[in-house]
Amino acid sequence: MSIARFWRETPRRYNLGGSKCTMCGTVYFPPRAVCPTCAHHRESIGKMVPFQLSGDGEVFSYTTVHEAAEGFEMQVPYVLALVRTVEGPILTGQIVDLAPEEVRIGLKVRATFRKLREEGRAGVIHYGYKFAPAEELPGPRPGGPRAAVGARTAPESDRASA
Ligand SMILES: [Zn+2]
Repeated sequence: MSIARFWRETPRRYNLGGSKCTMCGTVYFPPRAVCPTCAHHRESIGKMVPFQLSGDGEVFSYTTVHEAAEGFEMQVPYVLALVRTVEGPILTGQIVDLAPEEVRIGLKVRATFRKLREEGRAGVIHYGYKFAPAEELPGPRPGGPRAAVGARTAPESDRASA
């Protein structure tokens, strides 16, 4: 992708700026000029207003990527998910801050802005939204405090042998 095209798309990459139909209330991302939900599409022209998505949603579907595209080599395996936002639109994004095997359908997530990729020898770094867990996960986490359980006591047999 060219740098110029990237920056043209930047407002919605950074702000999750979509549009909302003031006739039926449907939210779109990316923004649309006409509402395909309204029965008479042309009546919605001029009735679409900018709408800011919150970035909150839940995992609707996901896949674990083991072979990365160019520029993503350092990140495999990673999870690419379809996230149904609370406002309705479904966004595609990488799940971060969670092991791939812990991702599940219905997981509550929140958009967060992260480095997307580095491009070529010029080292152009692209940023955009990814999704991080928005809820505490049940059960002990790997590397948690479980190993510390079971306090050691001084063995009394040491004295008996004296
Ligand atoms: Zn509409």
